[in-house]
Amino acid sequence: MAIQGECPKCGKRVLHVHVEHVLGMVEGASKARCISYSCIHCHAVLGVQMDPRAKPRARRKPAEAD
Ligand SMILES: [Zn+2]
Repeated sequence: MAIQGECPKCGKRVLHVHVEHVLGMVEGASKARCISYSCIHCHAVLGVQMDPRAKPRARRKPAEAD
């Protein structure tokens, strides 16, 4: 199956993305860990989402292993 996705900026196929950890800002304060995906060719950001592995701080079981 060929990968059909193209970068909207440079038009190259998106075969790989850079994955970077970024912080979501809410009213000027960093509140959420997020992940951004950017094109490896031109570094255009293709998408950002909440980090599904991030845990809210100091919840009930802080010592729980990953
Ligand atoms: Zn690109």
